Amino acid sequence: MARHIVRALVLGALLLPVAAHAATVSAAGTFDVTAATRAYLDTLSGAARAKSDAYFEGGYWLILWGALITIASDALLLRFRLSAWMRDRAAAITAGRFRQTWITALFYTLWGMIVTLPWSIYRGFFREHQYGLSNQDFAAWALDYAKGAGIGLVLGPLGFAVLYAVIRRFPRNWWLLGTGLMGAATLLGTMIAPVYLLPLFNTFAELAPGPVRDRIVGLAQANHIPAEHIYVFDASRQSDRISANVSGLGPTNRISLNDNLLKRTTLPETAAVMGHEMGHYVMGHGLRNTLLTTLLFGVLMLGASRIVPVVVARWGARWGIRDVGDPASMPVFGIVLAALSLIAVPLQNTIIRTAESQADGFGLNAAREPDGWAQIAMKLSQYRKVEPGPIEEMLFFDHPSGATRVRMGMQWKHDHVANAQMIVPPPLAQASAAPK
Ligand SMILES: [Zn+2]
Repeated sequence: MARHIVRALVLGALLLPVAAHAATVSAAGTFDVTAATRAYLDTLSGAARAKSDAYFEGGYWLILWGALITIASDALLLRFRLSAWMRDRAAAITAGRFRQTWITALFYTLWGMIVTLPWSIYRGFFREHQYGLSNQDFAAWALDYAKGAGIGLVLGPLGFAVLYAVIRRFPRNWWLLGTGLMGAATLLGTMIAPVYLLPLFNTFAELAPGPVRDRIVGLAQANHIPAEHIYVFDASRQSDRISANVSGLGPTNRISLNDNLLKRTTLPETAAVMGHEMGHYVMGHGLRNTLLTTLLFGVLMLGASRIVPVVVARWGARWGIRDVGDPASMPVFGIVLAALSLIAVPLQNTIIRTAESQADGFGLNAAREPDGWAQIAMKLSQYRKVEPGPIEEMLFFDHPSGATRVRMGMQWKHDHVANAQMIVPPPLAQASAAPK
């Protein structure tokens, strides 16, 4: 969950170092926001734009296929009474109900990981390579995947054991306490993530002194953000995507940038990105997003608490499930929550996207680099559809699209820069030519 939130805050893309050879084209006159926006959007065209659109639109289907595969995997457990078998094995091993639930959940989680492994490999490894978006060989990818799975095996079954204890204690209103516990666990996870979880995947180090650090420290001080530590992490071991994020909570709250951002962007672009991240920090988006996501999770749990008992009453005997508090009912929860999650995707995207849009506005005011911002928005659009329709953006985008971001930047330039001039945007580097 912590990783999920961090991922949601992350910006990323493939790029080349771009020479700042922006030339003034219009000597005088009024600054045309629409024309300036179009000039940037047209730097992503032809095959590169088609590839970015295909990668991102394919992602819409991944959501559906992912849910269907989860549902199929759980349906197999029910059809062949395997979850009942897992529960009986657990009961043969230990007497306590909490421990029985934990062992059943361990079997259940392992089953899910094994059955969905080919899908995970396709989605996480082959598809990323197909689009030239990964720097990892299979062994490195598999090691990262195994670490994530290991964390899932430690936390998942423990969560199930607690949830089922709550279900047995409060058969009707368990969803409320369950949601509260989930929210508390997420906050704790977010707090410890920068110290205990994220270093499992990347190495974090202090940003070296120099003009980039000076610019970031200046931005931070102007916005009353502590700037003693600025962290850089080696995201290039996974991909060429540019990324910076705010992670942690309370004492562990921090802004980090990745090495791709340092290698492949100009100083104005880096400043624009860091201004955006500082917006997240100043406006407390980590806490906001966690609370809103927990609320949404609560709605899903309420739905499950009304649907699962009906399903168990109707078909439980056929599947060897005694009641809702029987850990053999895990696949029923899995199926119901996977189906409800499909409805939750646009809501979750909107929770994140609205915070991102606020951070975009904050970053423009903080860094005052509208052209650097527009260039970054175009670089990020090399793997995120640049000009979606409004409904498409609302449903599927967890960040504003490139078109929305460039337009916001050009509008800001129009409103805040005296005598604003239109520039010729630098050409976007082809992803396939990106140096490693
Ligand atoms: Zn952001």
